[in-house]
Parts: sequence; C-alpha cells; structure tokens
Amino acid sequence: MTSAARLIILGSSAGRASAHRAASSYLLDLGSHGVLIDCGDGATRNFLRAGFLPEWVEKIVITHTHADHVAGVPYFLQQRYLVGTDRPLTVHCPEDAIGPLKDVLDFSHLFAERMPFPLYFESLLAGRSLDCDGARVTPYPTTHLEGNSAWRENHGFLGNNECFAVRIEINGRVIVYSSDLGALADLDMIPLPIDWLLVETSHIALDELWPWVEERRVKRVILTHLSDDFDVAAVASARPGTKAEILLAEDGMTLDLRDGAVTRWTA
Ligand SMILES: [Zn+2]
Ligand SMILES: [Zn+2]
Repeated sequence: MTSAARLIILGSSAGRASAHRAASSYLLDLGSHGVLIDCGDGATRNFLRAGFLPEWVEKIVITHTHADHVAGVPYFLQQRYLVGTDRPLTVHCPEDAIGPLKDVLDFSHLFAERMPFPLYFESLLAGRSLDCDGARVTPYPTTHLEGNSAWRENHGFLGNNECFAVRIEINGRVIVYSSDLGALADLDMIPLPIDWLLVETSHIALDELWPWVEERRVKRVILTHLSDDFDVAAVASARPGTKAEILLAEDGMTLDLRDGAVTRWTA
C-alpha cells in the first residue's frame, strides 16, 4: 500500500483554451513521489498552487502530443532545473514523440546534458505497465489521432499517430483516464474492472457513455476536457440512466484513491 494515493486534477480544459481551467494535466500523488499525466498549458501553476515541489515528480506520462496535453512540459522541466534537483525524471511518451520532445527542450535551452538531474525518455508500449512504487500505470492505445494519418503521410510527416488512455491500479482500485478518444469503443480495449472513469467529453457522445458505464458497473464518472460552453445543466438534467456517480472535473479537484473522498479548491 502506498503512503498516499490521490489523483489531483491540475488541468481540466478542452483543446480550446478556458479562462477558468488549465489544459489537460493530472497528478498522481503516491506519497513518495508524483506522476504527472499530461502537462498542458497552466499545469505548472496549478501544480504549485496544490502545494507540490517540482523535484518530487519522477515520471511524466504524455498520452499524445496535441498541444493541450504537452505544451507545459518545457516549463515544468525548467522549474526542476531552477531548483537544482538531482532526482531523476523519466518522460514516458509515444515513441515517435521522443525526438521532437528533445528538440523542443533544446529549443527552450533545456539541454538534457546540462540538467542537474538525469533525464530519461521511454516509449509507452500498449499494455506494458509502468511500475510506480505500488501503483500500476498501464497505457492502452486509442484511435484519437488516426484521422491524421493520411494527411501526415501525404505531407511527409512519418510516425505512428499514437495516443494512449491510461489505466491506473492502486490499492485495489482501478481508475481509467481516457485521454482523448477517437470513439468510445477505444475503451473496450481496457481490462475490467473500471471503478472510476475520468473521461474526456470532446470526442464522444454522452448519451453513448451512460449505457457504456452502466454495463461495466463503473462506480464513478468524472467528466473532463471541458470547454467553457460545456452544457453542465444538460448533464444535470439528463437522468443518464446509470447508477454511477457523475462528477464534473475542475482544476484543483482532489480524489482520494483510498476512501474516495473528493475535495475542491475554494476560491
Ligand atoms: Zn485534448
Ligand atoms: Zn488530442
């Protein structure tokens, strides 16, 4: 059992920037260290606001390289550089993102060779778990970027167009973060049970989601990747036909992965 087990929502906005939310970023607090899952714009500010130190994060998992999930990485790493930590950090990301990410860091004057800490890059592999000190974090592919394949090939951009959802198993509880989906059926790849589903709202139909979660006995659904015009009232009045608890993500929302408690930032 880990000494702490919390999931903190640092950024809950959709691709379109929000005045009230940072872009996609989620922090797994394992007590001994943190795992940052996606790191969009504004993630570092909310990370600090939540009271954490940059050197305490030992892994960053990047599900895919759309800017709303990755644009905060150089700035976050710059904080680790400035505090002078020697604690190693590994960036886990799609294989064909490693070279471009290194280029972005060089471009940002964050040369890996000059960092005070060892900086590693590892490819995410479908179904291969990252061992995170008692938690198992396992990526599963989604079809989110498949629509880009033809255009990329025609224009000489090679690569696998990979995007991953993430299954987190900790203290006997399973949480799935959908990242961005091509279709709700992408989640069928992920082994059950799923206790909590942190699911994006930009690329799926909610009226398909409710029966999906009910069929799989998901206990809690946290809707995220929310645009400012997301129709909260419609969700509230939809009577979705599932017994799952439905929550709307907000920056600073903290989910205790042991007792299920939910806490929020106050203004
Ligand atoms: Zn996104
Ligand atoms: Zn995306």
